[in-house]
Amino acid sequence: MPERSRLAAAGLTISAALLLLAAQPVKAFSRLAAWRINGEGVLELRTSPNINLDAFYLEGDGQRGDRVWIDFPGSPQRPRKIRGRGAVREVRVGMPVRGVTRLVIEFQPDTQLDAKALSLVGVDWDSWRLRFPVEEARFFPMGEGVLEREFPGPLSPGTAVAPGQARRPLRTLTTASLPWVRRGAFRIVLDPGHGGRDPGAIGIGGTREKDVVLDVSRQVAQHLRSKGVHVVLTREGDVTVDLPPRARLANRSRPDAFVSIHANAISMRRPEVNGLETFYFQSFQGKKLASSIHNSILRTVSRKNRGVREARFYVIRRTNMPASLVELGFLTGRLDAADLADPAHRRQLALAIAVGILNYLRLAG
Ligand SMILES: [Zn+2]
Repeated sequence: MPERSRLAAAGLTISAALLLLAAQPVKAFSRLAAWRINGEGVLELRTSPNINLDAFYLEGDGQRGDRVWIDFPGSPQRPRKIRGRGAVREVRVGMPVRGVTRLVIEFQPDTQLDAKALSLVGVDWDSWRLRFPVEEARFFPMGEGVLEREFPGPLSPGTAVAPGQARRPLRTLTTASLPWVRRGAFRIVLDPGHGGRDPGAIGIGGTREKDVVLDVSRQVAQHLRSKGVHVVLTREGDVTVDLPPRARLANRSRPDAFVSIHANAISMRRPEVNGLETFYFQSFQGKKLASSIHNSILRTVSRKNRGVREARFYVIRRTNMPASLVELGFLTGRLDAADLADPAHRRQLALAIAVGILNYLRLAG
């Protein structure tokens, strides 16, 4: 490989090349999603699904310690160095050549790895482990990104989970789960449904749609702003706003996406009807946006999946940017009503929606 010969020409010795696993075709969008070195000296990686990885080892020369590096398809968002502790001196994320991300783990000069015992193991379609074979070394946890499959990979947002499909394992999101996007590059209009004289649906226990969706929307706005996204809300408080001014505000703001947040209702005599539905109107980008939000919610909270569908709601029909309307659940449903009345549940919903929007922006822009 060109990288190896260049290093060899510079007078360094390649002592061993590690195992190469997963002989699948390389996808253009594949890349390193997250890495972590845990306290037991195991490097854990999450990548795009089904990619090839090359891992290498270079023995230290007394001045510099042993190095292990792994090359991933796709350029890094930004090259960087992270200072290590204990046995690890430094971790670097670089770009040796265009279109390649290189993760380098450099050890302290006095740390000796047993190169023959190094092996990078694929443990899942998108997860890898590499144990650093070194005696009496101290490791301190460090890493970047979210290792647990907390948001869909680059190819997932356009793919809706089939309605009625069994629930996935659920996750707990924190603000650390919010994916990185370029600061200052994006604008979003959030539309909390109803408000003021229009309470929207009123469900079990008297929970009002306008209150639930305003609380969730405000939290989504806060999360997006924390990532440097410019957010406009169609209403900030409990005020009456008609549909045409909402669409006009969105069109004037020229956002990258418009997301309207609602909760559903059916007869109070139908408590068995529960579930999440997300809508778009006629646009492929709108469908991608809807799917990204929908799937993120389904991965986070228990919710019957009622699917991503096309619909003619005014605010998604009369806005001229990618637009989606999410119905968080049924306020008249026995399961959903209890969830939607719970502030902790609403916090998770807001984080899940923010993750879905950020993932959409990440891939769109
Ligand atoms: Zn509504």
